[in-house]
Amino acid sequence: MRKKVIAGNWKMNKMLSEANQFLVETANKVPNNDHVEAIVCAPFPFLASLVEKAKGTSLKIGAQNMHYEEKGAFTGEVSPSMLKDLGVSHAVIGHSERREYFAETDESVNKKAHAAFKHGLTPIICCGETLEQREANETMNHIASQVKAALKDLSESQIAETIIAYEPIWAIGTGKTASSEEASDVCTHIRHVVKEITSEATAEKVIIQYGGSVKPANIDELLAQSDIDGALVGGASLEPESFLQLMEAGT
Ligand code: PGA
Repeated sequence: MRKKVIAGNWKMNKMLSEANQFLVETANKVPNNDHVEAIVCAPFPFLASLVEKAKGTSLKIGAQNMHYEEKGAFTGEVSPSMLKDLGVSHAVIGHSERREYFAETDESVNKKAHAAFKHGLTPIICCGETLEQREANETMNHIASQVKAALKDLSESQIAETIIAYEPIWAIGTGKTASSEEASDVCTHIRHVVKEITSEATAEKVIIQYGGSVKPANIDELLAQSDIDGALVGGASLEPESFLQLMEAGT
């Protein structure tokens, strides 16, 4: 049985004091069992403090991006080794907002996935189609090509450890969730793609999340789908109460 992995993606929100307070209110309440894993993906300046506050609890701390180089003349960037050194465990890679506003490409996503594993971080790799692509019936091809490009040349054991987040772009921050059937169809498709490039055993291990306007009111139905193993949650992960409610759904 795959566990449910619920990751909050705070995006560019909160001040340090608010981030710390969030952990005070949630970290100890995150379930400690094999069924659910909770991650908060926070802005870089908060990570050191949040890792410290999450110590001794089951809450994991993730970054929302990273560079693929280890060090050097890359002004303004943060390396995977820096994140690992802080105690960060996960990194979101290739979020649609980074692809759209920060020129992230399938190629850089793949480089980052390799770099994450090299430094012992678990990548949460995002894929998703635009509304135009969905309406033109291009969703499945687009997702297959994004997933294959992101996982290119990773070993089978690395792919087994990868978290893939399916986030239809038209459902992010819009209040418009994909129906559980739409979400489930694409997540099943992603598992098929992983099977095609690895094996059935590996495909069965990969955690596939859905993201896009997930909230306490709709998470149960999404998680009830056999190929949806969790959620990447923006807006509804910002408040302690709803974050903990999402966690309960996974339990
Ligand atoms: P949302 O964001 O839950 O606010 O739609 C999800 C995401 O972008 O990861």
